[in-house]
Amino acid sequence: MMNIAINERFSKLTFAVKSIFIQESYMYQFTSKITCLHCGGKYRGKKMRDKLAYSCSTYEKKGKESCSNNFKIKEEDLVHMVTTHLQIRNVRVEGSLGEHVTKIEVKDEGYKIYYLDGTHSVVNDNSHQYGVKFKY
Ligand SMILES: [Zn+2]
Repeated sequence: MMNIAINERFSKLTFAVKSIFIQESYMYQFTSKITCLHCGGKYRGKKMRDKLAYSCSTYEKKGKESCSNNFKIKEEDLVHMVTTHLQIRNVRVEGSLGEHVTKIEVKDEGYKIYYLDGTHSVVNDNSHQYGVKFKY
């Protein structure tokens, strides 16, 4: 009886450690998939107050004269959008979330996420007449 309890506890601990490891290894999992439509440049990973985020590399390297787009995307927002999108469609995620995303395009303080299966999500779609902020 005792052994079972210990084993159970051990496997729970292993699971917790594994989860942390998996999250860490998937840091910046959307790198190279995000494009700035203002300048055509790629978004690069950047730490913002201890949080992972992405920013236009042209803006970061050459300043606002080269690209005026200083819109940043937080990793946690992308994870939330992609997770919700995949859950709604009952897609199982075994590896990184990034594997399900083909590209992300950023324009006018919003972005569109394109998925492998041809579907997409939209965030801050200013063109929408009802002002919808999220479309999973
Ligand atoms: Zn740019």
